[in-house]
Amino acid sequence: MQRDLFEEEHLLFRETVHDFLAREVVPHHDRWEKDGIVPREVWKKAGEIGMFGFGVPEEYGGAGIKDFRYNAVIVEEVMGIGATGLGYSLHNDVMAPYFVDLTNDEQKARWLPGFVSGELITAVAMTEPGAGSDLQGIRTTAVREGDHYVVNGQKTFITNGINSDLVVVVAKTAPEAGAKGVSLLVVERGMEGFSRGRNLEKIGMHAQDTAELFFDDVRVPAANLLGEQEGQGFFQLMANLPQERLSIAVMAVATAESVLRTTIEYCRTRKAFGQSIGSFQNTRFVLAELDTEVEIARHYVDKCILALNAGELSAVDAAKAKWWTTELQTKVVDRCLQLHGGYGYMMEYPVAKAWIDSRVQTIYGGTTEIMKEIIGRSFGF
Ligand SMILES: Cc1cc2nc3c(=O)[nH]c(=O)nc-3n(C[C@H](O)[C@H](O)[C@H](O)COP(=O)(O)OP(=O)(O)OC[C@H]3O[C@@H](n4cnc5c(N)ncnc54)[C@H](O)[C@@H]3O)c2cc1C
Repeated sequence: MQRDLFEEEHLLFRETVHDFLAREVVPHHDRWEKDGIVPREVWKKAGEIGMFGFGVPEEYGGAGIKDFRYNAVIVEEVMGIGATGLGYSLHNDVMAPYFVDLTNDEQKARWLPGFVSGELITAVAMTEPGAGSDLQGIRTTAVREGDHYVVNGQKTFITNGINSDLVVVVAKTAPEAGAKGVSLLVVERGMEGFSRGRNLEKIGMHAQDTAELFFDDVRVPAANLLGEQEGQGFFQLMANLPQERLSIAVMAVATAESVLRTTIEYCRTRKAFGQSIGSFQNTRFVLAELDTEVEIARHYVDKCILALNAGELSAVDAAKAKWWTTELQTKVVDRCLQLHGGYGYMMEYPVAKAWIDSRVQTIYGGTTEIMKEIIGRSFGF
């Protein structure tokens, strides 16, 4: 079925992104996988061609265009080459709303130009060793002392954890107040008492820096609070999570499409019993099922992108997109790996890398189970 999401300007932008990735990322990504991190220079280079912060107002260096289709173009191109080390989608899709919508003019002037240029890399620190799905269980505190907050606590599994310059930290400013006692504070690289722990060793996504963060009496200026007053953090997070989940769904479908494409090609050329493996009915049926499901997923996700642009993407719709597409992704890469036989288990084949990289998709950004909880609660039982 014809895809009608994009217009001329998005297609032109796709070419720019595609060329950039071919030039600056493809030749180096294998090395970054071994290094466990992507160099900061490649962030600046992406910033130079306008890949960050479309929704940032022009006066701060952005394009001033809030259109998630541009975000989707980047995610699709990045996933198309399996460059899972680039934390661009976290910066662009997840963090931009915090820095554009929740900041005052003074904060915008301090942070947005660097956000757009790729010189200030961002991260969000919600998860702690003892609290992931259950955000209200976090223990990091921020105690107001004059015109500062004193932050104490520990975070883990933080994407861009090593490279980040600005970390939106979820902390309790009024521990007894439940959801109304949570605030978001921007902790900056170099603040005394802020340190990074291990760059965590993961099953996949080896080039992505995922780290532990520690806060030991960090004095964060009150001017780094996001939003007009304390206690809004939980609601600010809830408002931004649908966009984060949609970004993950875009990644899921793009990865599934890319793996499916290379697998169909593999099945065309690989021979067994004197014929191509694509000529076996089982192969055709497996591919037919996957192709059908991925195409249906694609159309639902495209509809979600338009709903987001119109300010109408609900938490429930985003949860549906997130769990269904990511579960589909893990199924697609697994079945496609099987169709590759032993070669599918070899890292030189893209399907092998896609298989290990995909596993986390049903976990971060809210697990499949939590997505089903969100949908289930909407029935009002
Ligand atoms: C690679 C990676 C990158 C990440 N990046 C970030 C980041 O940038 N920032 C950040 O803050 N966090 C990040 N995370 C953390 C991620 O969001 C959490 O791991 C995730 O939300 C799950 O939390 P948890 O690990 O504590 O699991 P738990 O909450 O302990 O869940 C364990 C299991 O119990 C299930 N479960 C929990 N509650 C329920 C329930 N009510 N009903 C049914 N089942 C339930 C879960 O679905 C899961 O299967 C990242 C994680 C990974 C692995």
